[in-house]
Amino acid sequence: MCDDCREASQTVRVFTRRAMLALTSGALGAAAMGLWSCRRQPPAPPPPHPDEDEGGPATTSQRAPAPDLGDEVFPDAAGHAIASPTDAPVIIVPRADWTPSRPNLNEIVVMNGISRLTVHHTAGEQTNAWDATVDTLQGIRNFHSGTQPDERHWADIAYHFVIDGAGRAWQARPLAYQGAHVRGHNEHNLGIVLMGNFDKQFPAAAQLIALAGLIAFVRQLYRIPMAEVHTHGELGKTNCPGKNLQAFMDRARKTWALNEPAFTFTRPATTPSTAPATTQ
Ligand SMILES: [Zn+2]
Repeated sequence: MCDDCREASQTVRVFTRRAMLALTSGALGAAAMGLWSCRRQPPAPPPPHPDEDEGGPATTSQRAPAPDLGDEVFPDAAGHAIASPTDAPVIIVPRADWTPSRPNLNEIVVMNGISRLTVHHTAGEQTNAWDATVDTLQGIRNFHSGTQPDERHWADIAYHFVIDGAGRAWQARPLAYQGAHVRGHNEHNLGIVLMGNFDKQFPAAAQLIALAGLIAFVRQLYRIPMAEVHTHGELGKTNCPGKNLQAFMDRARKTWALNEPAFTFTRPATTPSTAPATTQ
């Protein structure tokens, strides 16, 4: 994708609160359309982030239905009104824009509802340009799903969203499926990772704006209380998400908590309990 095309595509991917409503009501397909023919660089080497875990193959009862990846960004929200507590724009790039691949359904577990989220860093490369970020994402996915001895052997990329250096939130593992991002704590846990190593660098401002907007949105969508907004290091023995992102989260959650009384939900009082009823 050339720079001009990239800018144009980004323009339609800036989802405000109102656009999120359209997105969750099925307008994603139109927003997701993007055609380009630029050359891509070879995939970037995988990041060395060592702390995730798939949790073993799915049992028969956990086997997942095949998702419709084209419409499946926020499956539990279909038909429900969303009132985001923030007007911060969030750029969400559909999974189909960076990979045609599907998860390995024999190894993946149905999410069966989201009640918490966890923030990570990749401890790897932070890319900004569209094509470079696509390559980085493919490198991470190849590492996580690869079956070589030094690869992870997982069903798919570990996280549900990846925020690049430019502040785009790339849809990664479909939300219908449990992630592989916190050993022993993947159940009902939405995984968000920021590209970069925040023991060595600071998150980009665009990344933090995107993170705040995305967290606000998914908290609203899935009714996630502030007490269930975690960092990886709070759930396991790891340096992730790095001292600088950890410091941001420590400060930000205090600020976000001040708005908690105004954090109202318009969704009907039903708990997401099943994956979308798609079949293949
Ligand atoms: Zn982590």
